Amino acid sequence: MNNNLFVSPETKDLKLRTNVENLKFKGCEGGSTYIGVFENAETAIDEAVNAQKRLSLYYTKEQREKIITEIRKVTLKNKEILAQMILEETHMGRYEDKILKHELVAKYTPGTEDLATTAWSGDNGLTVVEMSPYGVIGAITPSTNPTETIICNSIGMIASGNAVVFNGHPGAKKCVAFAVDMINRAIISCGGPRNLVTAIKNPTMESLDAIIKHPAIKLLCGTGGPGMVKTLLSSGKKSIGAGAGNPPVIVDDTADIEKAGKSIIEGCSFDNNLPCIAEKEVFVFENVADDLIKNMLKNNAVIINKDQVSRLVNLVLQKNNETSEYTINKKWVGKDAKLFLDEIDVESSSDVRCIICEVDADHPFVMTELMMPILPIVRVKDIDEAIKYAKIAEQNRKHSAYIYSKNIENLNRFEKEIDTTIFVKNAKSFAGVGYGAEGFTTFTIAGCTGEGITSARNFTRQRRCVFVG
Ligand code: NAD
Repeated sequence: MNNNLFVSPETKDLKLRTNVENLKFKGCEGGSTYIGVFENAETAIDEAVNAQKRLSLYYTKEQREKIITEIRKVTLKNKEILAQMILEETHMGRYEDKILKHELVAKYTPGTEDLATTAWSGDNGLTVVEMSPYGVIGAITPSTNPTETIICNSIGMIASGNAVVFNGHPGAKKCVAFAVDMINRAIISCGGPRNLVTAIKNPTMESLDAIIKHPAIKLLCGTGGPGMVKTLLSSGKKSIGAGAGNPPVIVDDTADIEKAGKSIIEGCSFDNNLPCIAEKEVFVFENVADDLIKNMLKNNAVIINKDQVSRLVNLVLQKNNETSEYTINKKWVGKDAKLFLDEIDVESSSDVRCIICEVDADHPFVMTELMMPILPIVRVKDIDEAIKYAKIAEQNRKHSAYIYSKNIENLNRFEKEIDTTIFVKNAKSFAGVGYGAEGFTTFTIAGCTGEGITSARNFTRQRRCVFVG
């Protein structure tokens, strides 16, 4: 096997690599300049079906693990390029944080070791239950972690013997094409089948519909907002739905406030608050609120007053007068804190990471998943009030929640009552996906459908094989 790693010479010229529009797509047969990227869903699926057949007939689990090792290596080699490409195409987030996200996904997404066979043996023989592939999985990915999700899903899905066809976010299609090409070249470089990972060049709702309806697609896996999850769950096919969050943080009066202030700002401002797990609102006991805010201000946060909050609301939210519901102005998602502050005439230094403000519990900043480095803070009188408001803000999405406390009763009670897929005590959100904590990484957190922190095993079907006598 040739173990050469792929770092395409073209990657040196970012402009060329990112200019997908100018690429010549020659059709399906070894088709595109970007390996695995096809004009239409039918071709992308057919190619993935063929690749998956070859994978399941001719490749061992050990060889699948080798393929995954190459994907990890190529991701680490290209992490800066991937981070830069995402910024150029989506204009959201922070370069250095995107590099870290790619490191996390490359190093800590589980591979074939995640699969386990269950066996029973006795007088009547042997029965084994194996984790087997579905075949080709249809995967939908977000603009907020475009290549991280593609790499994470590819590792898990290939580990379990599947191929995957991606319908990426249209706003990140160049990054998606680059990542799919990169992964295919890594697979081919160690002797794996071409087009094990495919994508649609110009993903649309029509191409998604074609994927959903294609008879070869037996499992759908969607990472993104509520509209997408609803579409998948209405498809009549088995679906893994990783939907929106709005993670609350509680800080009580037993917490290490200095640590909480620093850690909450770091988590909230990571990649400008794009991650679904990032801290979105804080409920702090009133007797430690001033101290918490003081410590946040020491850590690159800026506080704004009531009038400035109103101006910020008008800038980043739009109100539907019929329903009184707020929607975000997508133009501002993942932007740097300084840009918001400039817009509302608040002077700040270039190293500001997060805007904090004091609001009531029902404020739209609390109730809306902003995905911007804006952190609303609500003073509460006790743990009852904190949990009540945190649950309302989380909206039963079963996603993520955080608490800073040394009170065992408060820690346990909040964990039970909020009942989220990720619950972190005394650390920032990224601990929930293995950063600076135990446990593996995922970029597909399936709270809606219950798979939780997804990994290879979630992309398998159970098959029982029985030997009698
Ligand atoms: P988005 O919902 O706009 O897009 C996600 C994907 O779904 C894209 O591929 C998009 O084309 C597709 N899509 C959008 N609307 C659809 C519809 N009605 N039917 C079918 N497909 C549709 O989300 P985004 O802005 O790219 O990403 C941010 C959202 O994703 C946030 O809500 C965030 O919380 C969530 N997210 C969740 C996870 C998780 O693991 N649970 C991870 C990352 C992001």
